[in-house]
Amino acid sequence: MRALVATAQTQGLRDNDFDYCVEGELVWIGLVCAKDEADPDGGCGCGRAFGGLNSHRATTTARVAEIEGFTHDDYVEALRSGLQQAGWPPNLAEELARELLVIAKHWPVGTVIERRIDQFQAREAE
Ligand SMILES: [Zn+2]
Repeated sequence: MRALVATAQTQGLRDNDFDYCVEGELVWIGLVCAKDEADPDGGCGCGRAFGGLNSHRATTTARVAEIEGFTHDDYVEALRSGLQQAGWPPNLAEELARELLVIAKHWPVGTVIERRIDQFQAREAE
């Protein structure tokens, strides 16, 4: 199935890019704090970040990936355990999986996307 994963591709396109994730790990979209809610280029970074489900770190670039043999249930379970480890309510996993899939299905596999709070857009290929 299709899912969003962390990538270093296109890093540096924006001055305030960052990527502390592990390449290829699943990412989710976390909540945005008050500081970044007003400005995705705010000091915090959460307004433009995807969160790594394993590393619990963040990146400003995510890639639409096709993960062979990975099922919807696997995805929900990955989200559930990632949320739990990070101290978030794990029962958000189902809803989050749905939201992430809508985003992932929007672009062809291989597309690198970025986030502006709750807007997502493709980046130009390198
Ligand atoms: Zn923040």
